[in-house]
Amino acid sequence: MKELAILGSTGSIGTQTLDVVRTYPDRYQVYALCAHRSIDLLVQQAKEFHPEVVCIADESLYEPLKERLSALDCKVWAGTDAIAEVVTMPSIDIVVAAMVGYAGLRPTIEAIKAGKTIALANKETLVVAGEIICDLAIKHHTPILPVDSEHSAIFQSLVGEDRSEIEKILLTASGGPFRTFSLEKMRTVTAADALKHPNWEMGAKITIDSASMMNKGFEVIEAKWLFGVPVEKIQVLVHPQSIVHSAVQFTDGAIKAQLGAPDMRLPIQYALSFPERLASEFPRADLFALKDLTFEEPDLARFPNLGLAYEAMRRGGNIPCVLNAANEVANLAFREGRCGFLQMSDVIAETMNKAAFIPKPTYENYVETDKEARQIAESLL
Ligand code: MG
Repeated sequence: MKELAILGSTGSIGTQTLDVVRTYPDRYQVYALCAHRSIDLLVQQAKEFHPEVVCIADESLYEPLKERLSALDCKVWAGTDAIAEVVTMPSIDIVVAAMVGYAGLRPTIEAIKAGKTIALANKETLVVAGEIICDLAIKHHTPILPVDSEHSAIFQSLVGEDRSEIEKILLTASGGPFRTFSLEKMRTVTAADALKHPNWEMGAKITIDSASMMNKGFEVIEAKWLFGVPVEKIQVLVHPQSIVHSAVQFTDGAIKAQLGAPDMRLPIQYALSFPERLASEFPRADLFALKDLTFEEPDLARFPNLGLAYEAMRRGGNIPCVLNAANEVANLAFREGRCGFLQMSDVIAETMNKAAFIPKPTYENYVETDKEARQIAESLL
């Protein structure tokens, strides 16, 4: 029996993780549920899964949450300090890190230090502080298992292989809803247009990041840290069918890929059960029904965010942290109608030029950088 702490339990990854737990109650038990502020769903989840601890990030919701869970025998905590503490509790085996954005960094660091296996969905953690996270994981012998579908595909392709024999990582991208749009047309798209993702059901922030291809830029950075491959060896391929979830090309020319229907429950379940595979009822990809599997080069002129992510890695230091902070600000502003779709990239590029460069950042430097970059980005809107 594995005990789980689920950070972001009411989000898209969190609810699908609970689907897996529901299917395998003899293998997985929920020790802690943590959410940002979706109190209704959190209460419902607590009643179904009976965790030891329920935690809400927004402290103003502590009293109503405690009140509504008074009939249950569970501890109720609130605030970001509480979340950073919950993940270190001795009974927990696996921490599912599925919070949105920069907020996932601190609890993930605490969980690694406590030696918990990390099922990592929060890619921003690696974008912001990949070097610190990887050093800590080595020091504390903590496995980090990818939940992101592309990285799960790469991870599955690498089982039984020597990482020194990787020639190239082939990272696939759906291309999002604006894949075939002209620059002219992209200038006037709205958040509602961007939220219509062709293949994947996800939360709002990541769906906008997918439409702007910042998500893919982040995934390049994520792959670099997870698999120890320089970004020059990570190639993005636009693959609109989202069937090939990613692939690895080896030094002898062999390419191994993982294919499947687009369903996040498979990578979530694999991260929880690795190195085992568990039977599932998830939809199967019917290869006879698929007419074409196509691959295109990404267009950096229409999707400059992808280029900005490579640039952030080339510059190194705290610049990927700046990239993330500016993107979080621009992404939210776009969703709130305060910023145009293409303007998001301008704000991010400008913030990257204006923020102070720190070549070897500490955790404290990242906290300062995040704050500074958010202020710069806000001032540019
Ligand atoms: Mg992904």
